[in-house]
Amino acid sequence: MKELNCKLFGHSLVKTNLPFAKIKEYKCTCCKKQFTKDGYGEIVVLDSYWRQNNENLRASLSSK
Ligand SMILES: [Zn+2]
Repeated sequence: MKELNCKLFGHSLVKTNLPFAKIKEYKCTCCKKQFTKDGYGEIVVLDSYWRQNNENLRASLSSK
């Protein structure tokens, strides 16, 4: 079971390619869940809150 594998050994995170270096998003190659880094450098699940947060950040960066 893939999810169990992640629970036991941790996620196999790979960085997803983004045009902005400031926004860091990751994907687990095992369970396909997406993650990002919060303001403290902690890996957090990329839920709707963080997705919106990164969208806003992306928008403000591209408008410069
Ligand atoms: Zn995983």
